[in-house]
Amino acid sequence: MFILKDKTQLKNAIAKALKLRPRVEFDCFGRYRVSGSKGYYTVVCRKDERGYKTVACTCKGAEKGLPCYHAAAALSLHIGLARRQQTA
Ligand SMILES: [Zn+2]
Repeated sequence: MFILKDKTQLKNAIAKALKLRPRVEFDCFGRYRVSGSKGYYTVVCRKDERGYKTVACTCKGAEKGLPCYHAAAALSLHIGLARRQQTA
């Protein structure tokens, strides 16, 4: 799990996501399944009680607190959906 502060921390992960183009499946708002090298990973995006945006992924990298490309791929969908919710 890591806390999302700004886009620069995701720069490498976004570049990797654009290169590998993982499949992102919508589960429910804030919860996505992303294809990876060993099957699907679950990415959960939410705001914690302090108002921080947290992103959790079930892969090994995210367990160590590293922004992974699964999270980057899921976030691009999540941010779009969050925007649509606000404007709806
Ligand atoms: Zn991951």
